[in-house]
Amino acid sequence: MAIISANEKTTYRGYGKTQFRYAMTYVVITFVVLLVLNVYCSKTSQKLFYQSKEVSMIEKCQLASDEIATLDVLNATTVAGIVSQMESLKITRLIVTDQSGTALYDTGGTAAGTYLLLPEILKALEVSKEAPSGNDVFSWHYHDGVMDSRAATPIVSYGTIIGCVYMTEYDVSQGALIKSLQKTVLQITLLLEVIITLFSIAFANTFSRRLNRIMTSMRIIQDGDYSHKVNMGGNDELTILGNEFNDLTERLQNSEQKRSRFVSDASHELKTPLASIKLLTDSILQYDMDLETVREFVSDIGNEAERLNRMTAKLLSLTKAEGLPSEESEIIYMAPTVRRVARMLNQNAVEAGITFRLELEEDSPVLILEDDLYQIVFNLMENGIKYNLSGGCLTVCLRREEDNAVLEVSDTGVGIPEDAISHVFERFYRVDKARSRATGGSGLGLSIVRTIVQRNRGEIAVSSVVGQGTTFTVTFPAFDTEVDKA
Ligand code: ADP
Repeated sequence: MAIISANEKTTYRGYGKTQFRYAMTYVVITFVVLLVLNVYCSKTSQKLFYQSKEVSMIEKCQLASDEIATLDVLNATTVAGIVSQMESLKITRLIVTDQSGTALYDTGGTAAGTYLLLPEILKALEVSKEAPSGNDVFSWHYHDGVMDSRAATPIVSYGTIIGCVYMTEYDVSQGALIKSLQKTVLQITLLLEVIITLFSIAFANTFSRRLNRIMTSMRIIQDGDYSHKVNMGGNDELTILGNEFNDLTERLQNSEQKRSRFVSDASHELKTPLASIKLLTDSILQYDMDLETVREFVSDIGNEAERLNRMTAKLLSLTKAEGLPSEESEIIYMAPTVRRVARMLNQNAVEAGITFRLELEEDSPVLILEDDLYQIVFNLMENGIKYNLSGGCLTVCLRREEDNAVLEVSDTGVGIPEDAISHVFERFYRVDKARSRATGGSGLGLSIVRTIVQRNRGEIAVSSVVGQGTTFTVTFPAFDTEVDKA
């Protein structure tokens, strides 16, 4: 009975590395993807904050610059007066300088009257060909959850730079927002990575367990249990692999059964003549015999040896017949071969009192090796003589049936009982052992015929009536040359 490995504990452990490699590959790939997404998200969010901050700060600076540019005189007092009206700007610190960079006004109060060497102010006051009216400058630093933004714009009056407005903003709330956004993205990334890792391990485990099943089964089969079947479950490539594996072991089991039956049948068949030879030689050695009896015994030994010879020749021919169809096959007509066999067996037929009737007119070409065809016709006609009755007839007929060429060998002999018909093609099977042995039969002839017929894409059938005769019908695909040429 077949053993199903799914119910067993799998014993083969050789896939740990593959399993680990699979799991690690998924983890590393997803980790890299998530890392890239993480960095992209946090950079993009920072950029969005930067852009909105830049727009709002420059706008505020320009607003202040425009207001200050309307002053007739630019000094600490006039600037302080106008800045006090700009409280709505909500700036952390606002500094107004003259065109040399000296601070005229500072909401922080510390820089007033000093020369400021801040890069933003220097850049805003810088005049070039590309920027004859100075530059709008914005710089931004994000550190420890604080957004430190700085902006500077020139104050332009009648086309001339008369000073600069410099603003700074320390934004803790927006900084905290960026920080929490980055933290959330990181947490989601880590969570996803953990989930992916768990899934990868589970998936790799399942995959590896199923592979182990096949490996275990292979070992069991290697140990000689060909009845073993693997049950992969599921509905994927591994299931197909499991089914293919089961088909293969089934075929292996069949061929193993055939092989062992063949070996036991062959040794059994070879044992009989060998035992006779032993018996005959023992008799010659043990008993005093006259020369005539010794001659008789030695002649019997010779006959037995001849039988052994025939049997081994047939066994070899059977082994050869089980090979692949010969590449030397050619398209030939069957009638010449039938006539050749008839000539060969003519003497046997005459001795057995059998007449041949050859109806070979409706002949069709077939693709076969001539030696194979000869062997088929010879074995069938030889049987037709061996199992015929004295005065009987052996008819060989060639006919055409649709796309097939048919060879029919029928005799008027003893016939085959119904229950034996299905066995006649088996190796060493003989309906009447005594008769077969007496006629030199080995029980291999029909087995060889069927093997050669099948190897040449043909079919063989038998019908028989006990006491009336037997008909063997061999069918091959016809290879009409006209059809082939078309
Ligand atoms: P064997 O060498 O014994 O003839 P075969 O394989 O040729 O072996 O045939 C198997 C058995 O089938 C024979 O032993 C015989 O009993 C039976 N058989 C074969 N051909 C015929 C036939 N034409 N008429 C009756 N019986 C046959």
